[in-house]
Amino acid sequence: MYSTTLDITQIRADFPILQRQVNGQPLVYLDNAATSQTPLAVIDAISDYYKHTNANIHRGVHALSQEATDEFEAARQKIQTHFNAAKAHEIIFTSGTTHSINLVANGFASFLEKGDELIVSELEHHANIVPWQMLCERTGAQLKVIPITENGTLDMSVYADLLGARTKVVFVNHVSNALGIINPIEEIIEKAHAVGAAVLIDGAQATPHMVPDVQALDVEFYTTSAHKICGPTGIGALYGKEAWLRKLPPYQGGGEMIDQVTFEKTTYADLPHKFEAGTPNIAGGVGFGAAIDYMNNIGFDAIAAHENDLMRHATKKLKKIEGLHIYGDVENKVAVISFNVEGLHPYDIGTLLDKMGIAVRTGHHCCQPIMDHFQIPGTVRASFAFYNTHEEVERFIAGVEKAVGMLR
Ligand SMILES: *Cc1c(COP(=O)(O)O)cnc(C)c1O
Repeated sequence: MYSTTLDITQIRADFPILQRQVNGQPLVYLDNAATSQTPLAVIDAISDYYKHTNANIHRGVHALSQEATDEFEAARQKIQTHFNAAKAHEIIFTSGTTHSINLVANGFASFLEKGDELIVSELEHHANIVPWQMLCERTGAQLKVIPITENGTLDMSVYADLLGARTKVVFVNHVSNALGIINPIEEIIEKAHAVGAAVLIDGAQATPHMVPDVQALDVEFYTTSAHKICGPTGIGALYGKEAWLRKLPPYQGGGEMIDQVTFEKTTYADLPHKFEAGTPNIAGGVGFGAAIDYMNNIGFDAIAAHENDLMRHATKKLKKIEGLHIYGDVENKVAVISFNVEGLHPYDIGTLLDKMGIAVRTGHHCCQPIMDHFQIPGTVRASFAFYNTHEEVERFIAGVEKAVGMLR
């Protein structure tokens, strides 16, 4: 009945946390869109780094410093290869998607004039709204919003109308973290380029499920966070086209990002170091590289196929529950299900599920504009990963049925 090429039992043995109990029940972890769990391959890479290599990078002539530098730069190359960036120095290590977007938005301050226009979508995470609003306050540029339609997809005809000669940058997510919808980013990028605008794609929610090719997309900026792709927290990457990264001013000043420092004038280091002031999260970078290897070993096609199988199955069963409504229930989505049950608060459902050992997210998912659109306080969000099983889906469905029965 279920078609999966993955050996889920063997995969689950790679994740110690999946073995634990919560509230006396085996954990069912369905909050993968908030953060994914960490396999031993990543935990070991970080632990080995601290046991055998730990030193500061790019500074010392001593052996440890050189080994640490090599490991950090090898991770950068893994990320470059994975996303098919043309050059390793087009990959900037950041603390994650939030940092990456702030870095770019801050840099745009030097290019914008009053009356210039920026385009965002109604479907964004706050991380891809607020930094640009701050930029607008500083520069007098204006924020235009692509609205969403009834089923949660972007209204692309409004987008076409919003674009114009004053549009300088368009920023949307590849996949919505609140609804799981995959946005038509190829079309978004092409139309933006037609008016000479740059594009930033927030890939935090896409990269756990698919492998974007930044050259094929021809995108100016693409972001990812390691902790959503089985890597550690506090590390991520910004891809930027070389010409743009050269144009953008540095975001933070400090050590590592300079060429020459005098009190008269400081010149900046070359890419990527210009954007990597201070000691980076070296162990995190090494763990990030290990996570990419781990995911590629399993294979993204098999990952997506299994996750979609789980989602379709769960969707079918959830829809049988009276009064249950799924938001963004469209064909083109990743394994995220956002729902509410008529008359019930999402928080109450989430709390009861937690008592049964089932972890889901409840609330606005850092996307208040979407919740305002649907006029709801939030949703219950179940997000699936390749290590989730059909048995867990059954426990989740039974849990929702039980919770709804208790609350009604
Ligand atoms: C998680 C997420 C972010 C924020 O990522 P951080 O790792 O917290 O910086 C931004 N956008 C989307 C779509 C996300 O899912």
